Amino acid sequence: MNTPRPPLKSLDDALAELLGHAATLTGVEQITTFDGDGRVLAQDMVSALHVPPQDNSSMDGYAVRCADVRLAGGVLPVSQRIPAGASGQSLQTGTVARIFTGAPIPAGADAVIMQEDCEPLGDAKPDQGSLGSVRIKSAPQPGQWIRRAGEDVTRGAVVLSKGERLTPASQGLAASIGMSTLPVVRRPRVALFSTGDELVMPGDIAPEHMPAGAIYNSNRFFLRALLRRLGCEVTDFGIVPDRRDATIDALCEAALQHDLILTSGGVSVGEEDHIKPAVQTLGELDLWQIAIKPGKPFAYGKVRRASSADDMCHFIGLPGNPVSSFITFLLLVRPFLLRLQGGQGVTPVVTVMPAHFDWPRADKRREFLRVRRNAAGGLDLFPNQSSGVLTSAVWGDGVVDNPAGRSIAKGDTVQFISFAELMG
Ligand code: AMP
Ligand code: MG
Repeated sequence: MNTPRPPLKSLDDALAELLGHAATLTGVEQITTFDGDGRVLAQDMVSALHVPPQDNSSMDGYAVRCADVRLAGGVLPVSQRIPAGASGQSLQTGTVARIFTGAPIPAGADAVIMQEDCEPLGDAKPDQGSLGSVRIKSAPQPGQWIRRAGEDVTRGAVVLSKGERLTPASQGLAASIGMSTLPVVRRPRVALFSTGDELVMPGDIAPEHMPAGAIYNSNRFFLRALLRRLGCEVTDFGIVPDRRDATIDALCEAALQHDLILTSGGVSVGEEDHIKPAVQTLGELDLWQIAIKPGKPFAYGKVRRASSADDMCHFIGLPGNPVSSFITFLLLVRPFLLRLQGGQGVTPVVTVMPAHFDWPRADKRREFLRVRRNAAGGLDLFPNQSSGVLTSAVWGDGVVDNPAGRSIAKGDTVQFISFAELMG
């Protein structure tokens, strides 16, 4: 008997609904700045100092008063030497200071002349404390080769904001304002389940001995890796045995210790599957049909924790077809997990690029076509766009977000989202 099909939900509606469930996890960890990559900041970071802290030289050369060097060719004595890490004295009128990159500009100096534009005359007498003199080969402009105090960060500025996801560059910036530790939202704890009696783990049965109808569990590998990239702690429950009691036990146990239970397979409409009734028994489940290709079936629900009636663990059921599973993870689960960590700006950057391919058959659903950027500045299409062909996601370096009902002719501009953008 066929179950009546629910109306298709748009991807935007599905995402909005999902994000509506993703209340930020309570629990902030103070981690070392070294471990910040990929974590989401729980507070604004305000600088207690200027960066750089004072005016400093951006070149190895000589600090001068421009008024002393109006013309090229003049000779001036070197009155002091200021390496990085030292602080010089006020510059005597009519002299220059030997200075190195990063060293503070001495009071009175208003420009640096790079050493390539100066000629030391070789008259230094170190034993008598004389640093000699230099011929200045080009007249300086006021301010040249000086990095100004606070030109990177001013004291009191918000350098990194709450909800921002840390990158290697932001770790460096946090360190530059003296932060050795950072407050971040705790990692989401995710329980990963694979469903499907046809699944075999690589290593358990050799390819030449695979029984008819069996396939290797590929989803488990990319899902676990994607979850880790998003900062999750993953408990992998493996392939859940296809029995009602075993499924209920596994879900109950997972709900207690986790923020999200993520499954793949068994969310198609009308399918016999133990995850669906088990989640319904233990909480609630919405089966969605999302108007995208690949990736139509998707489920969101909640599993009650044994401890309390309204204390629930999130449940997300992904489709089993590997590319559908992969794409729905990137488009829906990734923003959900970032939002659980308090992440703002969870929408990927879209670039407009020319298609170097034809896609004559428009689809009723919004499509995410696996493509690859080419050296000519356009996009090539992977020839087989089937939802079971995982090669497309390895060959491709992103997707074209193609609106419902649109065919593509070579040269048309299309919307490209890179995997780098979606997987980071
Ligand atoms: P389902 O969503 O369970 O109907 O599965 C749809 C298709 O995806 C079927 O061909 C399954 O064999 C396949 N599939 C389900 N789970 C996995 C998995 N973990 N790895 C690889 N293929 C899978
Ligand atoms: Mg299945």
